[in-house]
Amino acid sequence: MKIESLRTHPLTVPIGDLQRTSQGSFGEISILVIEITTDDGITGFGECLARSAPKAYAELVHDRLEPRLLGADPFAVEAIWQNCFRTFTGRSGGVLIEAIAGIDIALWDIMGKALGQPIHRLLGHMGRERVTAYASSIAWVADDQAVQQIEHALARGFRQIKVKLGAPVEAALARAAMVREVAGDEIRLMADANWVFDLDDAARVARGLYDLDYFWFEEPIVPEDLRGYELLRQRVPIRLAAGESEHTAAGAAPLIASRSIGVVQPDVARSGGITETRKIAHLAHANHVAYAPHVGASGAICAAASLHLAAAMPNFLTFECMVFPNPLKDELTTLIPGDPDQVVDGGVAVPSGPGLGIEVDRTALKRMAAN
Ligand SMILES: [Mg+2]
Repeated sequence: MKIESLRTHPLTVPIGDLQRTSQGSFGEISILVIEITTDDGITGFGECLARSAPKAYAELVHDRLEPRLLGADPFAVEAIWQNCFRTFTGRSGGVLIEAIAGIDIALWDIMGKALGQPIHRLLGHMGRERVTAYASSIAWVADDQAVQQIEHALARGFRQIKVKLGAPVEAALARAAMVREVAGDEIRLMADANWVFDLDDAARVARGLYDLDYFWFEEPIVPEDLRGYELLRQRVPIRLAAGESEHTAAGAAPLIASRSIGVVQPDVARSGGITETRKIAHLAHANHVAYAPHVGASGAICAAASLHLAAAMPNFLTFECMVFPNPLKDELTTLIPGDPDQVVDGGVAVPSGPGLGIEVDRTALKRMAAN
């Protein structure tokens, strides 16, 4: 079996104000969908996290990566990954790894389809047909809108909810307290600051969250401030979570090995696909750190790949189930992977069909094509 052709589908959709964070609203979001076909007619789909400029990602894929793929064995994901990683000289940057991610996911989809098995079985699964999930996220919007979002998540059956926090400290703590009051004491709550605080303000928020029995405090400070994460961990009792901004296992290693965080959150569409994200999860496992996949504003292919990893990683903790309307997730496939309207016992189903176990809707690819 050989890789015969590669197509790219740059997609962009409007997303409105419903998922406002401390860093503002998206307005519109993009992904790049990768489609790879083999000489015996198997087609695999992958997704690159490409929040903007998806056509630039497509250009990179066709110009630099496609020549390295054509004719290769799609089962050789490790060799292909390393070959693509060496595309540029020097230290490879984030955009390249995000481009590789989409290719890698498509190759895992092909492997699963060729063998007639879902990807989590190829990964050596943990026997999970469903995985624990949390509603993500209560946005950094006005109180009345936030209350509506909490009540909607509870009505859908979620028992774990994440809330976005913003500055200043007083506003963040007021929001955290309000969410605890509305959700009640039985619901597990997490908070995500999207790195809006400095170290000292983060420590103040962290103590308040701990008193409100929050389970984790996510990205309190900028992702590159590794020393800050170490210091914060020493100063506050609450579990810290981060890693959605990392691209590789080598990049995530200091955060994990220092034990600054209790939960690592790589995004499979950013962190080099299934091949590299699995390494991050295993590295975390070896360092007694939990793995909770990041999905964020990504699309259905990212969600499906994340569910397969969730089903197979021994240190999986909880799945980020996005609850705001997002056509890239809700309309790209015939069934929604990790559907927030199909929550049972606080969890969502792992796709069971071959490969990713999803069916990409080609009319949606056309409808959402980036201009
Ligand atoms: Mg986050």
